[in-house]
Amino acid sequence: MNLRPLLAAVLLGAISGALFADSPPPPEAAAPPPKASDKPRPDPHAEELSRDAEIGKRYAAEVEKEFKVSKNAQYQERVRRIGQELAEIANSIQPRVRWGDPRKNTFQYTFKVLEGKDVNAFSLPGGYIYVYEGLIEYAESDDELAGVLAHEIAHAAFRHLATLQREQSKLQAITLPMILVAIFSGGQASGDVLMLGQLVGLAAGSGWSQQAEEAADDGGLQYMLRSRYNPVGMLTFMERLAVDERNRPKIDWGIYRTHPPSRDRAIELANQIRAAGIPIERSKVTTTFRAIAQPSPKNEGVLEVRFNGARLVSFAGPDAPERAARACERLNVFFDKVPELFQVAARDDGRVVGLGKELFRITPEDAAATGQTVPEAALAAAQAIKRSLYFLSYRIWDMR
Ligand SMILES: [Zn+2]
Repeated sequence: MNLRPLLAAVLLGAISGALFADSPPPPEAAAPPPKASDKPRPDPHAEELSRDAEIGKRYAAEVEKEFKVSKNAQYQERVRRIGQELAEIANSIQPRVRWGDPRKNTFQYTFKVLEGKDVNAFSLPGGYIYVYEGLIEYAESDDELAGVLAHEIAHAAFRHLATLQREQSKLQAITLPMILVAIFSGGQASGDVLMLGQLVGLAAGSGWSQQAEEAADDGGLQYMLRSRYNPVGMLTFMERLAVDERNRPKIDWGIYRTHPPSRDRAIELANQIRAAGIPIERSKVTTTFRAIAQPSPKNEGVLEVRFNGARLVSFAGPDAPERAARACERLNVFFDKVPELFQVAARDDGRVVGLGKELFRITPEDAAATGQTVPEAALAAAQAIKRSLYFLSYRIWDMR
């Protein structure tokens, strides 16, 4: 059953109350009425914030009617824990706000995971933040997940929906609820896709969408820089998602996603991270871009070093674990610099050299484990590293 029109209608009701703040709330609104204040002159800022929280609460109730909250307790706990750490930071600093409400807007944030494979997240006014299970499974570290949550927190803290409402005079009034439906429906395509797509396209064309995304990236990064999470996770998540979306075989709802990853956004993030003095070491926040030692499935006692699943080199002998661990360390330093293909080479004595430094050395025992001579095994390893470099530079937006 398609519930989108119903949701749209409910949201239309909800949003009209928010849009026209001077008119009374619509009678169909099911949420409790706002608390009456005893003070004759309430703080207008505090009132705006509590209005955000009220609207968000109403939307949240609709969202949780329409979508199933995940039963995965670990996911819920992880998202809540990371989210609350960042929310505390967001509530305690006066951030730089490129687009949105520049005041220090504090909220009681809530973080929930929804069922579904979609790699998406969204933020409601007042700090109600939702993440799909698919996004949690896609994130390769707490740092990447924190980056997404920080971005969503910034949308709420910068009051992007309220800002949009103020600037929406250029749009038809009807489009705003439809945009919200699009935001809520995330990647779950429905019969309304085409129409919604056009409407979202219209909204995107007005420029608010891009401005909001860039501001949320900037805000999220400010929170990340003050947290114990590595801000590089924000960058790698975007890089990986951008390429995976490009490679998707069919054109689907994803092109209308509310957080389209883009080269410009990735470059801006990378520049800001560097400006903050943080080295871009992708191996620290991902598994895709990290050399990992694993036992060989074929040869007992042999360790294989792999990068994104592809075998680079095998180590045999009693000191194989130590040599494999050291090779991984050096390879990660090497890969993190995103070198050119010619910057890796094999020597006849078994050394494999990257950026002028020895990455590892093939011993006769290592070579025997793969049925090769030492020079053959070194050459094969260098070629495998080149293939990984090619993969790496294809997978990132390439900013050294
Ligand atoms: Zn966003």
